[in-house]
Amino acid sequence: MLRIRSIVAAPLSGESPKGGWSAEIRPEDSVHTLIAVHTDGGITGFGSVFTNGGLVEAALKVLEPLWAGESALEPERVSEKLHQNTFWMGRGGTLTHTISGIDIALWDILGKALGQPVGRLLGGTWRRRALPYCSLLMDEPARMRDAILPFREAGFRAFKIGWGPFGRSGHRRLDEAIVAAARDAAGAEARLFVDAGASDAFWPNGLNWAVNTARMLAEHGVGWFEEPLPPDALADYADLRRAAPVPIAGGEVLTRRQAFLPFLEGRALDIVQPDVTKVGGISEQRRIAWMAEAFGVAYVGHGWNTAIGLAADLQLAAALPGVELVEYIGGSSYVDGLLADPFRLDPDGLLAIPDAPGLGVALDPEAVARLTPAAARLFAP
Ligand SMILES: [Mg+2]
Repeated sequence: MLRIRSIVAAPLSGESPKGGWSAEIRPEDSVHTLIAVHTDGGITGFGSVFTNGGLVEAALKVLEPLWAGESALEPERVSEKLHQNTFWMGRGGTLTHTISGIDIALWDILGKALGQPVGRLLGGTWRRRALPYCSLLMDEPARMRDAILPFREAGFRAFKIGWGPFGRSGHRRLDEAIVAAARDAAGAEARLFVDAGASDAFWPNGLNWAVNTARMLAEHGVGWFEEPLPPDALADYADLRRAAPVPIAGGEVLTRRQAFLPFLEGRALDIVQPDVTKVGGISEQRRIAWMAEAFGVAYVGHGWNTAIGLAADLQLAAALPGVELVEYIGGSSYVDGLLADPFRLDPDGLLAIPDAPGLGVALDPEAVARLTPAAARLFAP
């Protein structure tokens, strides 16, 4: 029996990408943290958490009596044990985020121990490749065009633009000019999605803005309208979904499967977007995706995190029907600069889903050391 010997965190910093937040992320800020779960059998699993490294380190200490000596081969049971025993310690927040990273790492370990990719362990292989959509921040129209072109040339066939001045300038014409420039730069054949980013602080718009903007987006062939309303505006989301000519997407700041249920029962979303590095990990993400399926709602993972998060999203895309897309942050060192064998688009603009054991990817210790002072403890138990 493989047992958990230690769990360590390594906050990434120095090249944190901008998020478009009104209190903007600085390169040195810690918003993504890698996790390693070391076992007594020589296998180490890796996970990723979309939150501040200090919070993750504190959460690991709080959780330690629950994970110390536990089986390293039972991700779902161990993660649920961590959830259920911390209901009074801020469930849904830092602890849930941290459990996400532990859960991803435990699935990685299980796959490595059994010699199978995580996707197969989750129940089967629906596809071997996924379409990455390149996620970019919105900018003034000319700069928006310049931001997209290099990624189009690199082979991306799907794009999402979000945040920045969109919906914040008060000028509807500017919003439309940004989308038109993006469509022009991406090409008529490209998939294009728009993210208002209404989970930013003090979002200034309401339902009417969202309905009118959805109509404008439909004219530019936009595939979904993401976070057009503040994350808790459940009733407005339901009204918007009924009125909008484009699919409505959201849920990236929700955590725990229970938080998604009112949005599904309330018929508030066409697409749910849980983030595997926040929501509770692969175990929870899979439950949410299947729960959405039962309501006729699509699932596309929110993947604004790291190469390990993307690897988890790819395994989930393999193991779920109808998931062709994964999010790919354009130009982030935390996605492109961490792996020994970095992700590469194939000639069709698709990403192969790794079929090596576990998450199927290997961190490059030297590359990781460039982005966190705590790299050594990730690799040395
Ligand atoms: Mg978003």
